[in-house]
Amino acid sequence: MISRIKSEALFAEALNYIPGGVNSPVRAFRAVGGKPFFVNKASGCRVTDVDGNEYIDYVGTWGPAILGHAHPKIISAIKTAAEFGTSFGIPNPSEVTMAKLICSLVPSVQKVRMTNSGTEACMSAIRLARGFTRRDKIIKFDGCYHGHADSLLVKAGSGALTFGHPDSAGVPADFAKHTLVLPYNETEPLQATFAANKDQIACIIVEPVAGNAGLFVPKPGWLEFLRQITVENGALLIFDEVMTGFRLALGGAQQRFGITPDLTCLGKIIGGGLPVGAFGGRADIMDYLAPLGPVYQAGTLSGNPLAMAAGIAALEELGSCTRESAGDIVPRSLERSCDAYTRLDQLGALLETGMREAAKSAGVPAVFNRCGSMFCGYFASEPVWNLSDAMKADRERFKKFFHGVLDAGVYLAPSQFEAGFISTAHSEADIEKTVSAAAKVMKAL
Ligand SMILES: *Cc1c(COP(=O)(O)O)cnc(C)c1O
Repeated sequence: MISRIKSEALFAEALNYIPGGVNSPVRAFRAVGGKPFFVNKASGCRVTDVDGNEYIDYVGTWGPAILGHAHPKIISAIKTAAEFGTSFGIPNPSEVTMAKLICSLVPSVQKVRMTNSGTEACMSAIRLARGFTRRDKIIKFDGCYHGHADSLLVKAGSGALTFGHPDSAGVPADFAKHTLVLPYNETEPLQATFAANKDQIACIIVEPVAGNAGLFVPKPGWLEFLRQITVENGALLIFDEVMTGFRLALGGAQQRFGITPDLTCLGKIIGGGLPVGAFGGRADIMDYLAPLGPVYQAGTLSGNPLAMAAGIAALEELGSCTRESAGDIVPRSLERSCDAYTRLDQLGALLETGMREAAKSAGVPAVFNRCGSMFCGYFASEPVWNLSDAMKADRERFKKFFHGVLDAGVYLAPSQFEAGFISTAHSEADIEKTVSAAAKVMKAL
């Protein structure tokens, strides 16, 4: 047994001052039992806890660490920026650089506004869609998470799911009633809902690959269907790419699947590990925002110079040879020979094959869903295409599996309903070590 004495002491102390001892619920390990460990150091694909235990990390600070932790270029960009001041509240040049990068890399984005979190990005994109269409109702999908704003915290997957109150207390029914929740990957409920709410639906918001209830991918043609039905009904299509943006391709899921949404929400990777979000899209819609238009949105620290520096460094590093799609605006430094996304896909495939074989040879029914470097294994015997499929997974088995691999030095997200992430800092050897740890644990399940 490895010792986590210092972590336990810190957690006991934290419980006295922080509700549940954590600043974001899933971190409390409630979904898997036991106590969280505390980390004070991370480098590459590894995190080190306060007791000195090292783990191969597949959480990657919940997505942002696509280049691994403490990437030297990001650290140096932050240090350089900090020397000149941490916040101005006055326009700064790096905001323009960041906006140009996002607009040139994300296919549908013509204009973009920075925020401080993915929650703010989604909340603001919804307000903008409502203001632009002059309609109140929105459609979201069961198990998709779009941050914790009132109208979006309805059947929101992830933390909300495992804590047993998918509709948070404190959200007035009057707010939530404008949010229509439908099953992911189905078409008939959407047709019926649009027919029953003619000219009332402002937008559909969707995770183009759903990563907050484990992981499920869109069925072929489903995203196309969303695009078509929104156009036919004068509603906007919002891709929440807070997780998938710069994760599945430089241009996100929309590039990978070839769909053009009206608005896109971003976050996680674009902050290089600092707190950032953004939303962008069609210029005529974005110009509805204050100061040009009637939809208000603001932020004291939005476009913060440290966050911009970290994000720009991350995007430039990811840039590599996918330059064709980026156009001329992208700086020369993006012209490099290696393609981060090909590499991430290879590592993902290695993990997928290994995990499938491990489950098979242990005789444990398992489903391994993967899209590029995002993945989730469910202990289930039927394919997982939506939340109700995911709910059939054996969560008791996941708990045992989670703790088994954790004690072997592999850190997966502490919930069945979270995606895992591979970074460019993972090596084949790390993946192999993970697979062999998993194989051993599965045999004992
Ligand atoms: C993480 C996430 C959010 C919320 O972002 P925060 O920065 O945690 O507020 C929104 N949407 C999706 C798809 C996410 O994965």
